[in-house]
Amino acid sequence: MNSTLFRRLRPAAAALLLLPLVGSTSQGPKPDPQVLAQFGLFENATLQRFIDGKGQQMNRVSDRPGDYGFTIVDSPVINAFATPDGHVYFTRGIMAYFNNEAQFAGVLGHELGHITARHGQKQQTRSTIASVLLGVGSMLNKNVAALAQPLSQGIGVLFLKYSRDNENEADGLGVKYSTKIGYDAAQMADFFITLQRTEAQSGAGGIPTFLSSHPNSADRYTRVKGLAAQQKSALGKTRLNVNRDSYLRAIDGLPYGDDPRQGFVENGVFYHPGLKFQLPIPAGWKTQNTPDQFRMSEPNGKALLVFTAASGGSLDAAAQSVAQQLGLQSPAAQKTTINGFPALSIEGDQAAQQGQQQPAHTLTYLIQDGQSIFALIGLAAPAGFASYGPQFTASAQGYQRLTDAARLNRLPERIRIKTAKTSTSLGQALAANGIASKRYEEIAILNGMKTTDRLAVGQLYKAVGK
Ligand SMILES: [Zn+2]
Repeated sequence: MNSTLFRRLRPAAAALLLLPLVGSTSQGPKPDPQVLAQFGLFENATLQRFIDGKGQQMNRVSDRPGDYGFTIVDSPVINAFATPDGHVYFTRGIMAYFNNEAQFAGVLGHELGHITARHGQKQQTRSTIASVLLGVGSMLNKNVAALAQPLSQGIGVLFLKYSRDNENEADGLGVKYSTKIGYDAAQMADFFITLQRTEAQSGAGGIPTFLSSHPNSADRYTRVKGLAAQQKSALGKTRLNVNRDSYLRAIDGLPYGDDPRQGFVENGVFYHPGLKFQLPIPAGWKTQNTPDQFRMSEPNGKALLVFTAASGGSLDAAAQSVAQQLGLQSPAAQKTTINGFPALSIEGDQAAQQGQQQPAHTLTYLIQDGQSIFALIGLAAPAGFASYGPQFTASAQGYQRLTDAARLNRLPERIRIKTAKTSTSLGQALAANGIASKRYEEIAILNGMKTTDRLAVGQLYKAVGK
């Protein structure tokens, strides 16, 4: 891929990608830049040290100790995955749903188990799912593929599917490793229940991808409970840790759900408070926001618009760079102004490449906003360009400064750890914290409890709030 085209769209992530993990004691390899481009690094040094510390502790007692890394990425999706290069990733989304260190350790051991048992290396089939999702398959040539690549690699990892045998083996290893470092592995089974409840509950955060890549079976809960009991006695452990309170205190303040400061879509407009701009989205198009680009695709995959940072110190330099990277034949450039910002449009056909399918007709707008130059790259098959070109232009012409204070200052929801003051039900406690009644079930799942479960005086529980 042409990495220079994909400079970070999320400003805070930029520094972190260029520097070693700040505050990390990581002994393992650095996280994959492709994974970070897809999700962003979760900027919380305490939790990064926590996952790396527990991961390295398990690594040392594992069946195949190695140079492994452990990283939390900044995604609200509930997921955990291991890459074949020996790196385990947890999302901040899954961190929000654990209710104690033992659950966390069980899943960490499970993912490490996929690595030590070399499951990923036995099936290195990274799918072309990105092109399927985007629907750009029919007009994929190398240059479009270069745009789709960061997505395909990230998603390819997410959708690595393991066989049932692999999953069972990883469950066993997760039990073994977490027990060895002193945790009650039976808690991992309880976390499966939480995952199943999030899946059953629509709306909150969507279906956790952890489940699609780690299929649940009816007997998995029972099996893991049994393995945990066996492992406990085999290792002669009389006391195993759960560490509920310490875990809950560690995640107090964790962002929950989307973080609007990294960009959000509302009523057909993409707002980016960090970069202070807004951009209209063609009606009905699908969108995806990653740290380095915002992507809009026509629902049937007939056209694609990608908003990203451009390289080059001037509009002319950026235009040359884009024309080269898209492989344009004799592109036509035109200077213009968009809502007061100096801009330049470049239109042209991509050069046909041997063995490739139909090249795209492209229309790119480069917009100079202060020190930054942004590119809005539109691609469509030549036959469809007459209808999509005007939509590319309309979107570009809608680029403007975001000034609405309510949107600029919108804050993410966060996990708020509370202490029960009286003996009460979880539902009553949530009501006392101003949680809307339609969200009781969602927050009860987050707590791994039922709304009718009793809280003892002094017991910690999770609420959410700004
Ligand atoms: Zn698994």
